[in-house]
Amino acid sequence: MSLLKRKGMEPAKNDAKAQGDSGARERIKSLVAGRGAEMTANSIKKIEDEAQKLASLKNKPAAMDYFIEVARIHDRRVKEINQFKAGGGKVVGTLCNFVPVELVDAAGALPVALGCGYLPPVGLGEAYLGDPNMCSIVKACAGCMMIDDFPLFSQCDAIIAPAPCDAKLKISDEFREVRAIVPMNIPRIKQGESIRRQWIQEIMTVRNRMEMLTGNKITRKSLRESIEKYQRAHKAWRRLLDTRRKGDVLWGRHFLLIAWLAYVDDIARWTENVNRLSDELEKTVSAKKNVANGDAPRVMLAGSPVMWPNWKLPDIVEEVGAVIFSDELCSGTRVLYDPVVVDEWTERAMLDAIADRYLFPSTCPCFTPNVEREENIINEVKNGGVEGVIFHAMQGCHLHTLDATRLTNMLKGMGIPALTIRSELSDGDIGQIRIRVEAFLEMIQANRAEVE
Ligand code: SF4
Ligand code: SF4
Repeated sequence: MSLLKRKGMEPAKNDAKAQGDSGARERIKSLVAGRGAEMTANSIKKIEDEAQKLASLKNKPAAMDYFIEVARIHDRRVKEINQFKAGGGKVVGTLCNFVPVELVDAAGALPVALGCGYLPPVGLGEAYLGDPNMCSIVKACAGCMMIDDFPLFSQCDAIIAPAPCDAKLKISDEFREVRAIVPMNIPRIKQGESIRRQWIQEIMTVRNRMEMLTGNKITRKSLRESIEKYQRAHKAWRRLLDTRRKGDVLWGRHFLLIAWLAYVDDIARWTENVNRLSDELEKTVSAKKNVANGDAPRVMLAGSPVMWPNWKLPDIVEEVGAVIFSDELCSGTRVLYDPVVVDEWTERAMLDAIADRYLFPSTCPCFTPNVEREENIINEVKNGGVEGVIFHAMQGCHLHTLDATRLTNMLKGMGIPALTIRSELSDGDIGQIRIRVEAFLEMIQANRAEVE
């Protein structure tokens, strides 16, 4: 028996009786029923359509072309990843922002975020999991894992799956027979030394699993290099955020795409291109040029992550005349907001610093209390010139829906316009969402008139 198998890094073989498994492979095969290629093709078509839409937005900065190209993941990025694998490299899929990518990188593996905004595989995932009420992000993720050649998913040698909610918790169980999955236990309360110790242990487990997968030891040198590489990315990201605050110089839809690519693209190249974009935008700020009309309402987007290529809500918000000026999304601003802060470059201190970075600043709704999220939103509204907040609550997600209710009421009580949009990955609710967002923007404009 191989070391990987003994340590659970290798999915069980296709012998249900011998392994005592549930016959997951056979079920997947019969549910996919030869339709995988069609679902992949339809998902790629959606990527192409959305990329085309982003490419044709007026006042698009020239530096955005790079990100739009990489967002067509099935093309350049998949080829690069395949080349990396052909050279013996290991690819590690990540299912959430809790994954310490520095450890993946330090082991010499390539981390790739498996965003799940694909509608075509949702029905497949739902049939396999057997829960129609589960959130579409997890159903899409399940469906993508069932299809043989789905871009990025099929390149993964292992998948790190944090469990912040029931849906993501069960993904590890449901696919352990067919995928090498590394589950991560996420504490729900962040306070106390025992929680911190437990979390550091979780980080150590990821380190050990990455070393076993790659056969490479994570050294003090490789860990430091990885931390510094991501610190440079954080710095570039903060610079872009600061530049963006100086005016409406970047569509929110473009910004969210760059955020999504942070963990999909090569991180060093991504950093370089974010800096290139900031250089360009600084000139736009000096020239006092805006992407939208000068009086476009500035809104903040919060709630469930927006997953490529499902740009439905950001598209609607900006098509009806607003600018997404800021966000409180783990798929947006928060993707790289907090760097690993290292006091001393010993191995233990670096691992502790990584553990702290991935737990304490997180505003994921899985935590209680989660006052940081409220504070972030209030600060943005007070300091950032935001005129209203739109919460995105994915159907089937209790955590985001409950937060949306509480935070919307809190904001309304403070006289700040707030709206909750419950939605899925399908396009069936576009008309209804558009009407609600239009009414919301009218309310913001009426508020302005009252103040004047
Ligand atoms: S909201 Fe929380 S659970 Fe969902 S992707 Fe973000 S960090 Fe992960
Ligand atoms: S949207 Fe909610 S239910 Fe879905 S994966 Fe994220 S936290 Fe879990």
